Amino acid sequence: MPPGFVIVGGGLAAARAAETLRDEGHDGALTVLAAEPRLPYDRPPLSKEVLKGDDEPDSTVLHDEAWYAERDIEVRLGVEATGLDTAAHRVTTADGESLDYDKVLLATGSRVLQLPVPGSDLDGVVTLRTLEDSVALRDRFADRPHVVVVGAGWIGMEAAAAARAHGCEVSVVSPAAPLIRALGDRMSRVFARAHRDNGVDLVLHAGVQSLRGKDRVEALVTTDGRVFEADLVVVGVGVQPNAELAAAAGLSLAEGLGGAVVVDSALRTSDPDVVAAGDVCAWPCRPLADRRVHVEHWANAHDAGPVAARTMLGKQASHDVLPFFWSDQFDIGMEYVGHTVDPATADLVTRGDVETREFMAFWLVDGRIEAGMHSNVWDTVDHVQDLIRGGREVDTARLADPDVPLTDL
Ligand SMILES: Cc1cc2nc3c(=O)[nH]c(=O)nc-3n(C[C@H](O)[C@H](O)[C@H](O)COP(=O)(O)OP(=O)(O)OC[C@H]3O[C@@H](n4cnc5c(N)ncnc54)[C@H](O)[C@@H]3O)c2cc1C
Repeated sequence: MPPGFVIVGGGLAAARAAETLRDEGHDGALTVLAAEPRLPYDRPPLSKEVLKGDDEPDSTVLHDEAWYAERDIEVRLGVEATGLDTAAHRVTTADGESLDYDKVLLATGSRVLQLPVPGSDLDGVVTLRTLEDSVALRDRFADRPHVVVVGAGWIGMEAAAAARAHGCEVSVVSPAAPLIRALGDRMSRVFARAHRDNGVDLVLHAGVQSLRGKDRVEALVTTDGRVFEADLVVVGVGVQPNAELAAAAGLSLAEGLGGAVVVDSALRTSDPDVVAAGDVCAWPCRPLADRRVHVEHWANAHDAGPVAARTMLGKQASHDVLPFFWSDQFDIGMEYVGHTVDPATADLVTRGDVETREFMAFWLVDGRIEAGMHSNVWDTVDHVQDLIRGGREVDTARLADPDVPLTDL
């Protein structure tokens, strides 16, 4: 009998792994357990094109039903795996079924954190993770409510931009400046300005004490007692890895990295027959001197799925990518590659015109580039990747000079 494989999770990493398993020769049973009621889809458009109403929700679906059927991939929708018995090689589901596996992939992704304050269960207080969340929010934006976004991370800032595109009045309430944890103070100010220029009211250094309303939300009260009227509150206060199955099975977790599942460069967990890919795990990033990183990026899930599949097939495989992500907010189209632990202490070098939001930025530690981003300077990511991978000290004056090609540094 050929081995039987189970994939737990129905997102991008799961779909990519299933695709690779069949493409690269797995002819045994292949079952995907997917908690959501729909086939795997892409999430980035949920806070951008779909939320703004520019793209149809169905455009996010990765493969249709026929595609899985043709490849004999059994996708069980709406089925949550609730147990992982690594000794018996068995996964159990919420509806009491059990599936035996030779190898299992955990591609369970992450879930949104809720706002732990009174009133957060009122109607009109929403989060954004699933296609259903995005479509419901898009429909609510169309009525032009007064929107208060809680949290100034990527999802919060993109939701604020989409709400403005619908013509809503928008405030963002956050204890921290926009994107400061990822980008540091100076780049945070670039995004803050873009939002203010486009009519977003940024209420910074403010926590949320409570949400008020009778049947539905009517106002948000900050920890310093200010009251903001709100018809709709979008909570974007972060995510956490869905690592419960791994934890209960006794697999190693990275406590400093949100409790993500620890994997090696082949994406093997502490159990040799369990691999993990995507948002749920933290891997040693070879181009960053094997520093263990945990990211919630589309490209990571996209590239890790095939690596996990090859490991399941017993092939040599290594997840050697650099972290990469992008964002669109008003007139800023940005891409970021690399990873710097603390942008506040790294040296920031910019190149181009920050004022007009057409520039590049680099974060250096000990003279070496650890991460780079651009705002509206396209087709530069490959060169920045090469510079990071090269690991050489660079001349910062030349790096800052747009007349010096990146390839000549
Ligand atoms: C609104 C939004 C916008 C984003 N924009 C960007 C962007 O612009 N750029 C970027 O790089 N990244 C972006 N991301 C992040 C990116 O989408 C994620 O990194 C990516 O979806 C991770 O894929 P994944 O397969 O690891 O996990 P997920 O997409 O989270 O999929 C995991 C799936 O597994 C299911 N599952 C969980 N537990 C179980 C279980 N026990 N049994 C069965 N099924 C289970 C979940 O329900 C889910 O469907 C965005 C994310 C969101 C939510």
